[in-house]
Amino acid sequence: MDDLVALCKRRGFIFQSNEIYGGFQGLYDYGPLGVELKNNLKHAWWSSMVYDRDDIEGLDASILTHPDVLKHSGHENTFTDPMVDCKACKSRWKADTIENNKCPGCGSSDLTEPRPFNLMFKTNVGPIEDGSNFAYLRPETAQQIFTNFKNVLDSTARSLPFGIAQIGKAFRNEITPRNFIFRVREFEQMELEYFVKPGSDDKWHKEWVDNRIIWWTEQGIPREKLEILNVPDDDLAHYSKATVDLMYQFPHGLEELEGIANRTDFDLGSHSKNQNDLNLSSQTELNNASNSKLAVQDIETNKFIVPYVIEPSAGVDRGVLAILNEAYHVEKLEGGKERIVLSFASHLAPIKVAVIPLKKNNKELVDTAFKLKNTLQSLRLGRVVVENTGNIGKNYRKHDEIGTPLCITVDFDTLEKGTVTIRNRDTMLQEQIPLDNVSSYFKDFFLT
Ligand code: ATP
Repeated sequence: MDDLVALCKRRGFIFQSNEIYGGFQGLYDYGPLGVELKNNLKHAWWSSMVYDRDDIEGLDASILTHPDVLKHSGHENTFTDPMVDCKACKSRWKADTIENNKCPGCGSSDLTEPRPFNLMFKTNVGPIEDGSNFAYLRPETAQQIFTNFKNVLDSTARSLPFGIAQIGKAFRNEITPRNFIFRVREFEQMELEYFVKPGSDDKWHKEWVDNRIIWWTEQGIPREKLEILNVPDDDLAHYSKATVDLMYQFPHGLEELEGIANRTDFDLGSHSKNQNDLNLSSQTELNNASNSKLAVQDIETNKFIVPYVIEPSAGVDRGVLAILNEAYHVEKLEGGKERIVLSFASHLAPIKVAVIPLKKNNKELVDTAFKLKNTLQSLRLGRVVVENTGNIGKNYRKHDEIGTPLCITVDFDTLEKGTVTIRNRDTMLQEQIPLDNVSSYFKDFFLT
């Protein structure tokens, strides 16, 4: 992990947040390469959910959340972690980090009993700070999908099964943020709420678990590094009938990458009102919480039903960490030398191609390199850069280390014979091709 964290900082993937003021625990910033990697991962998820399928719509809802939403969702009462105080050094710990009844900080056994600590951040809304007008920063993106269920249904005329996908920030006041970007206080989730007929939920749950495993392998996570954990009944969240956690072997241990929960009709039921009008068969205890009837008409029976929900919920930051961990290799070269390579799947690579003029002060070479860069950039397949430092060897090493799949060198043959040299990151093989063929080479490489 230390080597990865150092590379992330050195090359501009991830920085400690607020670093110049001593840092802010549990917060990280994504630098020039990190933001590209993260955007590429989010785009891959969005494409597979919203564009490649015909049964899912997208949403981008507010982060500030009305307290009633999180009251009726059950988060005000139950979104807690057990916390333990060390009376000796005054530190606070999540109870499951305590081993042998000893404080992980100072080793003292003078600890309090565990007590629940609510993980939601509250903030004041409007100019009067008397505590009565407050909002929560959402602890999951899901709730605003449920509160918008009717809006999406009415504006798209969907019928079951269908889903609503959202990517966005979530906030949890973790007691002990740790392990780099694995457990942080501000993070992003990629969440799908997939609404199905009650009774078909078990089938869909299994289907989504299978589907999500395939997706992660397409992002470069080997199948054998993923484990399926059926969350035991007494560990299930208050809304869940069954949850499968996809566990990944992170550098610090086997931990959750994504959770796939069967949330039943708990959330839509809790946010609904006057459900009795709807002739429901749902067993949910309804609490007249909001003004919407969060139900959908069954096209076969014409009855309104509250759908069940299958929720694949993946962390973007944990995804980035897993992908970086898998991509990171140190290779031994001839002559005892080493090279560090990030072998990202090409659709995730932050920079797709580096165009390198052989001599940095040769105007003709540099102009040709920029022209080629602009041509490739206009294909909209990701970021293309010109690397004009004049040292080919160093540039290759840099782009291996940041995971650029292709480097294209513009040299005197380019000016005389109209050819360029393309070097492949993974094989290190170089081939000369006509300049005129570079666009189609680039498209073939990144689209197939
Ligand atoms: P954990 O048990 O590790 O705290 P969780 O079960 O509370 O996770 P979920 O509520 O299922 O997590 O959230 C869905 C996903 O959001 C997780 O699989 C994870 O990828 C991500 N996630 C949750 N909490 C954090 C966090 N503090 N930092 C980074 N990612 C997180």
